[in-house]
Amino acid sequence: MSGKVVKVAGPLVVAEGLADANVSDVVRVGPRQLIGEILNMTGDRADIQVYEETGGLGPGAEVVTTGAPLSVELGPGMLEGIYDGIQRPLTEIRDLIGHSIATGISVPALNRKKHWDFTPCVERGAKVVGGDIIGTVPETPTVLHKIMVPPKLRGAVARIQSGSFTVTDTVAVLKTEDGEEVPLTMMQTWPVRLGRPYTRKYPPVAPLQSGQRIVDTLFPIAKGGTAAIPGPFGSGKTVMQHALAKWSDVDIVVYIGCGERGNEMTDVLNEFPELIDPHTGYPLMKRTVLIANTSDMPVAAREASIYTGITIAEYFRDMGYHVAVIADSTSRWAEALREMSGRLEEMPGEEGYPAYLASRIAQFYERAGMVECLGTDSRQGSVTAVGAVSPPGGDLSEPVSQATMRIVKVFWGLDSALAYARHFPAINWLNSYSLYLDSLKPWYEERFPGFMANRDRAMALLQEEASLNEIVRLVGADSLAPNEQLTLATAKMLREDFLQQNSFVDIDSYSETERQFLLLGLILDCDRLSREAIAQGVDMEALRALPFKAQIGRAKSVPAEEYQEVYTRLGAELRAQIEHAKQGGEDA
Ligand code: ADP
Repeated sequence: MSGKVVKVAGPLVVAEGLADANVSDVVRVGPRQLIGEILNMTGDRADIQVYEETGGLGPGAEVVTTGAPLSVELGPGMLEGIYDGIQRPLTEIRDLIGHSIATGISVPALNRKKHWDFTPCVERGAKVVGGDIIGTVPETPTVLHKIMVPPKLRGAVARIQSGSFTVTDTVAVLKTEDGEEVPLTMMQTWPVRLGRPYTRKYPPVAPLQSGQRIVDTLFPIAKGGTAAIPGPFGSGKTVMQHALAKWSDVDIVVYIGCGERGNEMTDVLNEFPELIDPHTGYPLMKRTVLIANTSDMPVAAREASIYTGITIAEYFRDMGYHVAVIADSTSRWAEALREMSGRLEEMPGEEGYPAYLASRIAQFYERAGMVECLGTDSRQGSVTAVGAVSPPGGDLSEPVSQATMRIVKVFWGLDSALAYARHFPAINWLNSYSLYLDSLKPWYEERFPGFMANRDRAMALLQEEASLNEIVRLVGADSLAPNEQLTLATAKMLREDFLQQNSFVDIDSYSETERQFLLLGLILDCDRLSREAIAQGVDMEALRALPFKAQIGRAKSVPAEEYQEVYTRLGAELRAQIEHAKQGGEDA
């Protein structure tokens, strides 16, 4: 049975005669078979959000329900892929029909012709449950794709074979308890708006090491954690997210570019395939899935894209991998939500956003976490969710920023004043925070004893600097005691020689956690020894004249192979120089 369109308003289509359809069903609309999803039903009347341009569509056009919710295909072939918000493969569509996406086009998300080498890892007769791994496929040189029993199934393996298969070929047959034989392929489908199941969630205990000093040392995020990067235009959100995608020590990255300016997404599409993964030496795309929704694509597909992205992330998590989902920007996504809500004539909440904005944002971030995966081997996997927020005018009191800040545990607040002063990453250390410090402390302390004390000391110095700056502004720098002048000098070193990190300089773009620990240690040693010297009467001028300041300034550009040696040498030299100043101070 099919319905008929009665009204078209941009991405919203109202149709009647759909009594047999359900909310969330995917429907095909009009002669071009546009893809849509039912948002509301009243009797046989349905509000449909259409994921494609509705130009040319008019009342009377036919609407057919597929009877299934919006789902993604999960299996080998997603990595290196570039999808739109409803998982249509952009590269393949472009090869097929040229640059922009034609409407109603049906290309499967996973290539049906490509063959993959499947190696079983269970034997005939083995009893398996949902989530158990039955075999593997070397999908890319860096990622072993694990083929799992779909969540709700259990039974004994009746047949399983190795060989070269497409994603729809049967690779194994399960015999369930009631004797039914279920063929298993390498592909699963899953509704995007429903989180994939797991056995249990754990509090996160290990940091996601991003190689970004201000992140890993001052405001760390846990694997399985949530973070927001709010910031006005031009403050460095994109550079920051690219850095996270490039450097994070995760197995898989899902990058959702939602509705940023078209050319920015093109940057991602051009830049990513060129990048080399520092952890493996292979192209970064070998562990990446890109979801691209530029602003010239229909708004509804943007709304769906973050669910598509996080579902793909959960699927890799289920294999026992650590996955990072990076969404840029959730503000554009929320605008799509607002636009649909307006078309539906819903009661608007704050600034025209629907009243359910906060709960939708929460639903996205709640799907992050460190979990024990389904299956009998109790493997663990994680999804870390990072979202950029681009509040208009940088005003954090607007609804999307507020709702995001209530739910995420790490806040890297980008600041236009810092960006203007060319201090990058322009994360403001005075208003940023991480609520994972306590839970990550054991991890850091076990590897780098004293790490958290150093971190706290650095934070204290930076905060002291801010209040001393107030005094300097009122009465001038001369009024400061030598100790306070030293605080300003150390804080300057912390800012310039530690926090500032240039993403475009190879050596500086990534900093190992150990290197961060040693570099910060050097700066703090320098502060401590200088304080001792001041207490013994050495004056600030003498300390300022010492060469170690410049030496520490160059320390972050020491190549990775040499930093341990160089930093140790610098530490010794630093002590000698200050000792010398003390002698000089006594002589005088
Ligand atoms: P946004 O996405 O917030 O609009 P971008 O990420 O495009 O801002 O950053 C704007 C500019 O700031 C970049 O083109 C670059 O010149 C500079 N920038 C930002 N972060 C860094 C960084 N970590 N290192 C060097 N330059 C940076």
